[in-house]
Amino acid sequence: MELVIVKTFDNYFSANIILTRLQASGIVCFLRDENTVTIDPILTNAIGGIKLVVRREDESATIKLLRAFQINYLLSATCSECGSNCFSHVAKPGAVNYLTAIITWIFSSYAVAPVYVYQCGNCNYECENLPDAGEKVNEENMEDLRKE
Ligand SMILES: [Zn+2]
Repeated sequence: MELVIVKTFDNYFSANIILTRLQASGIVCFLRDENTVTIDPILTNAIGGIKLVVRREDESATIKLLRAFQINYLLSATCSECGSNCFSHVAKPGAVNYLTAIITWIFSSYAVAPVYVYQCGNCNYECENLPDAGEKVNEENMEDLRKE
């Protein structure tokens, strides 16, 4: 059985939420290096974070599910400024990101992670966490994705 890494995480909260949701959708999966990263977070970059591992034959279905989770998560939020539901997750152009680009260019590594924000596609309102971030997963869509 061939195993592939489909996603990496820097914390076990996000990793376990995604793991549980994929397992509930019928995907056989597990986390690699979860204990190492949890016990010693400084090693996260050195070993490449917590890895979500699936069977090769489940890879494309898993990627579709992860995309559906993300889309449902973004659609679940309502902009507090204009009331629309069209948030996207974008790298914020700013001092930290210019610094990141320079450090990356000098050291050829990601010494400082870029800052990502949620941005309303309608009014450009930005926030670090989604408002009303209760996730609404459409189970019918999940069922369709599993059949593909
Ligand atoms: Zn808005």
